[in-house]
Amino acid sequence: MPELPEVETVRRGLVPAFVGHCLTGVVQRRPDLRFPLPDDFASRLRGRRIDAIDRRGKYLLLLLENSWVWIAHLGMSGRFRIFPDAPDGEEAHDHLLFTTDAGATVTFNDPRRFGFMDLVMASEVDRHPMLMRLGPDPLGPLFDAAYLAARLQGRRTPIKAALLDQGIVAGMGNIYASESLFRARLSPTRAAGTVSRAGIARLVSAIRAVFEAAIAAGGSSLRDHRHPSGELGLFQHGFAVYGRPGEPCPGCRCQLARTGGIRRIVQSGRSTFYCGHRQR
Ligand SMILES: [Zn+2]
Repeated sequence: MPELPEVETVRRGLVPAFVGHCLTGVVQRRPDLRFPLPDDFASRLRGRRIDAIDRRGKYLLLLLENSWVWIAHLGMSGRFRIFPDAPDGEEAHDHLLFTTDAGATVTFNDPRRFGFMDLVMASEVDRHPMLMRLGPDPLGPLFDAAYLAARLQGRRTPIKAALLDQGIVAGMGNIYASESLFRARLSPTRAAGTVSRAGIARLVSAIRAVFEAAIAAGGSSLRDHRHPSGELGLFQHGFAVYGRPGEPCPGCRCQLARTGGIRRIVQSGRSTFYCGHRQR
């Protein structure tokens, strides 16, 4: 599933194709993705200029010149792809096609159809049911140690589960939770409310550093993620612990024979990877 760095990579890829351009053509091939698309979706987008593309957590917000906002979420397998000219041919699962006044075509392809799109007035974005409970973006100014300390106070859930709560940190997902906790030297099983103030400060820095490094690498291409130009992200090669059970820990150089290296455990049905020696 695309996490924040993958969605940010998609946002940055779409900006040159969309921003400042009018949608001269919109083709909708089916009535729904995960949910029904908005009524008259294609005709309401057609002829509109896109003024900016914002992001909140894993949601893309495309600001239209008429003060409406096109909300897009990639779900599990959603993918925007840019063709500077017309695409060579149709691909299976190309559910939406957008052409711009610059002659580019942008397709939205989603085999599993967990993607989501909506159209709302700009003034209603904060009250949208998918967005209203989202916590601050980890790369934005509202996410800091004081904020996170207040949200973790008294919580008995494991710190990893707390990080996956979208109401605490918008856009955090399974991969980057493991990577952030490794960098912050915090055990994923520790009760969230027991993390020290210093530990929380390390965690905030770690989350930002992991996301910034992942965005710089174009995100992680484990299954479906690609840059809208078609290029793969490369951050999967930069994982310190994720998907590396049994390998030596890169952080503390602990002896593989003594510690068993990177461990994999299952929390809330999802894999967590960590070093039991370095992360406490
Ligand atoms: Zn280690």
